[in-house]
Amino acid sequence: MFSSKDAFKKHFLEKYEMMFGKSFEESTLSELYHTLGQMVREYVSHAWIETNERNRANQKKQVYYFSIEFLLGRLLGNNLLNLGIRDVVEEGLKDLGVHLTDVEEQEVDAGLGNGGLGRLAACFLDSLASLSLPGHGVGIRYKHGLFDQKIIDGYQVELPEQWLRNGNVWEIRKESQSVEVKFGGEVQVSYGNGRLMFHHVNAETVTAVPYDMPIIGYKNNTVNTLRLWSAEPTQFRPEKGDVMKYKRETEAISEFLYPDDSHIEGKILRLKQQYFLVSAGLKSIVSTYLKSNDHLRNFHHKVAIHVNDTHPVLAIPELMRILMDEYGMGWDEAWEITTNTISYTNHTTLSEALEKWPISIFKPLLPRIYMIVEEINERFCRSLWNRYPGDWKRIEEMAIIAHGVIKMAHLAIVGSHSVNGVAKIHTDILKKREMKLFYEYYPEKFNNKTNGITHRRWLLKANPNLAKTICDAIGDKWIANPQKLASLVPFAKDDSFKQKIYEVKQNNKRALAKRIKQMTGIVVDEQSMFDVQVKRLHAYKRQLLNILHIMYLYNRLHEDAKFSITPRTFIFGAKASPGYYYAKKIIKLINTLAAKVNGDPKTRDVLKVIFLENYRVSLAEEIIPAADVSEQISTASKEASGTGNMKFMMNGAITLGTLDGANIEILEEVGPNNIFTFGLTADQVLAYQKNGGYRAIEYYHHDKDLNQVIDQLINGFFPVPTHEFETIYDSLLVQNDEYFVLKDFRSYVRAHERVGAAYGDWDSWMEKSIINIAKSGHFSSDRTIQEYADEIWGITRSV
Ligand SMILES: *Cc1c(COP(=O)(O)O)cnc(C)c1O
Repeated sequence: MFSSKDAFKKHFLEKYEMMFGKSFEESTLSELYHTLGQMVREYVSHAWIETNERNRANQKKQVYYFSIEFLLGRLLGNNLLNLGIRDVVEEGLKDLGVHLTDVEEQEVDAGLGNGGLGRLAACFLDSLASLSLPGHGVGIRYKHGLFDQKIIDGYQVELPEQWLRNGNVWEIRKESQSVEVKFGGEVQVSYGNGRLMFHHVNAETVTAVPYDMPIIGYKNNTVNTLRLWSAEPTQFRPEKGDVMKYKRETEAISEFLYPDDSHIEGKILRLKQQYFLVSAGLKSIVSTYLKSNDHLRNFHHKVAIHVNDTHPVLAIPELMRILMDEYGMGWDEAWEITTNTISYTNHTTLSEALEKWPISIFKPLLPRIYMIVEEINERFCRSLWNRYPGDWKRIEEMAIIAHGVIKMAHLAIVGSHSVNGVAKIHTDILKKREMKLFYEYYPEKFNNKTNGITHRRWLLKANPNLAKTICDAIGDKWIANPQKLASLVPFAKDDSFKQKIYEVKQNNKRALAKRIKQMTGIVVDEQSMFDVQVKRLHAYKRQLLNILHIMYLYNRLHEDAKFSITPRTFIFGAKASPGYYYAKKIIKLINTLAAKVNGDPKTRDVLKVIFLENYRVSLAEEIIPAADVSEQISTASKEASGTGNMKFMMNGAITLGTLDGANIEILEEVGPNNIFTFGLTADQVLAYQKNGGYRAIEYYHHDKDLNQVIDQLINGFFPVPTHEFETIYDSLLVQNDEYFVLKDFRSYVRAHERVGAAYGDWDSWMEKSIINIAKSGHFSSDRTIQEYADEIWGITRSV
């Protein structure tokens, strides 16, 4: 049906009439989206079945990537691209008077994630399939993904997200493969068959129904599976209790994604979600495995399970439970299989993000799992005692259960064979500090896997004109092997290539300017430098530093007639967790500043501030190709890797960043002439945190410009009540500026001066931009996933 333009048109019109029972002339764009989506879904079903059959037949090891979040974004455009049928469809629709991009925009983002962690999982699925690796995702089918953000009067307002409102063309409900998950109840112990037996009784049962989504590899006939679980009431539930209450509580499990990024919500429902995911996921993997194997003794040779952060770490005790209680295995053998099956990625060292569950919540909800965690802890502490006899302090620090809480990261390290960080500096900090004692005990488990992004979505699809310009210069081998983008390096000195890259950027900026006009009513100067910070709103990401610098520019422009700047458009996008008071104040501050600056006749020609609401994957795809400067300004040591930084680099933006996360590896790739770095190093930050010695107030007193902008937060400079930004003011001066905003301010100002000057030198700027594109291949998630496959999972291509 996609073999030629005419074949497509014929099928498309037939399909439309079948689905909607009316003629094409009466169609809406949304209906056309559903028609095309349905066609593509049907088209892949053959390759999907074939991939599954191949996996069954060749008996290769499979990896299952467990993640509480998958931030997929829109799927139609990506699926068309990976299937290699995008051009046929685009041409066919054009004949019918329809723009493919208009159809694509009908799709609601699948926003089943908060930010970087969920987007990483989505990029990994794309790379697994595109590398023909047998790897699948396991997650939760939240009825409502991350909230929609509206800005009203400068404040963030959250609306429930409704991605399933018009159905989801990509999923298939597999009711016959439903499994049951048990909560609460008690454990009864009996003796039989020469061993202790554990029976989970009086539990409440929830039915987990899988919905499968195809994950389509790039032009390789591989279609892997993302299996998302939905919680439903069990049908033949014994008559007791309040049925309506049971139904509500059951459905609540997969109702909402928790909107916390790098922060833990210690609610019982969150723990229910975590166990629901791992129990359903594991039961289905084990039963698939047993269709072609008689026993589970070689399970770890054929199955790898990866846990993305600690949220799915209950996979460890749950697999133990299944092996022992359901299949009669002894502890030692079950432990050997479990630890060799499971691997774990740590995503953060921020203490507020490290999961700890109070026993008082955990034990009543998951009584049998708690017993197993206790046993794991006891055996682990005993082995520590043997290694470090008498060192109580160390054992207390390393224990899985201590002071009434279960430390999920400790469970993850003890119960897995591999622990990885997500950028070199992050892995080093894990080894040297946060997990030092574990690194000493298990050095062989620790390794680094620097994050990546899929160049198919973030370059080929998001920036087709750039992709074409690259292909015109160096051919298309880089698409299969992104490291070959390095062939562009010599073109960094080629005037006609620079001109082409410039034109691509200008076109993208024009398109973004149009979107900005449409979303905000504000006209921005397409010739100005587009300086972009888009990411979740977090104190450690330091949007505040960016704002204070803009205020500083504004003041100078007003007060110093000789002061001039490269015209700049500062673009922000960020959602704040609904309960994160400080972050929401920063959003209000950005919008308040935007109103002041954009309306000021004295500055508005050289300075614009734009806040684009509802930042999400599809909006990122419009913003990032249009960026000149990529703001990656986290307090050093706090951003584990970042992946936004990689997307910008791949699209030719120059990083203005701290020596944090993967910025450091970007610097290593492009060299110091092609990135602007500033600020404290991670070692300096960590030393201050350890030894003290930072006094923010001194910077406030001794730097006149800084003094002015901080006072302006509360002195009536903004037309808001004077207490509006008091929390922000206090965070800097009363709470001694935990994130070193004041400390890094001057260094940031100077870095901006270098950026501004460099932007004025067209030739050298274009050279920098091209070098960034050329060196971005290292940050393709294909590289990352190949490393996971070789060094952690032990999986190989299925064809
Ligand atoms: C890539 C991405 C992120 C992560 O961005 P960072 O700058 O690494 O924090 C967050 N949200 C969306 C929608 C993304 O596409």
